[in-house]
Parts: sequence; structure tokens; C-alpha cells
Amino acid sequence: MNTVCIMCPIGCALSVTEESGKIVVTGNSCLRGQKYGESEFVCPKRVVTTLIKGEKGGVVSVKTAEPVEKKLVKEVLKEAAAFRLSSSVRAGEIVLENVAGSGVALVATADYDAK
Ligand code: SF4
Repeated sequence: MNTVCIMCPIGCALSVTEESGKIVVTGNSCLRGQKYGESEFVCPKRVVTTLIKGEKGGVVSVKTAEPVEKKLVKEVLKEAAAFRLSSSVRAGEIVLENVAGSGVALVATADYDAK
């Protein structure tokens, strides 16, 4: 597979193949790119950022506390869109546990006042 390393702004073009049961990454300029290529090949993951609406209006920006499997991103966004926040939160606090069954929480990235 071919992909672009997103670990820094350089954006090296990576080629990732499996040879004799070993994952081989080429095109990377550093170890971070090798690790990124390996993880993309085995189980790609992404940090998801979105907005959650408050029950009484307004929105708060949130992100997954850790990267989630790429195949769950749509479900994370769907669950976040359906959720309504009923209480105030501070940046860094958990808004929704185990979003989309990923085992990862959505956390606020800004303060939200529910009043
Ligand atoms: S391989 Fe290294 S230098 Fe290239 S984009 Fe990734 S982090 Fe940056």
C-alpha cells in the first residue's frame, strides 16, 4: 500500500508491503514514519474531532482521547451528532465514555456552560 506519513509537515510518501511475514516500510525519512507506516498497514487509527450540541443550545468542541480504529470514525461522528450535552464541562473533561464501543472517550477541548 501507498500512503503519506502525517507525523510531521514534510509528508513523506510511504510504501508499505509485507515480505515473508515482515512489514517493510520505504520512503520514510525517520523512525516515526516507519512506525506510522506499520500501524497504517496493521490497524489504521485516527483522532476524531467534532462538535457536540448542548441540550439548551450551543456547541462544544470535542476529540477522542486517543486515536480510534479508522473503521469506527463514521460511527463516532454519528454517535457524537446524536448526543446532547446536559451539563457544563471544562476543557479536558470526558463528555462521552466509550464512544461507538471503541473503548475511547470523547473529551471536551473547550469549556462549555450549560446554563
Ligand atoms: S517519515 Fe519522518 S520526516 Fe517523513 S513525514 Fe514522517 S515524521 Fe516526517
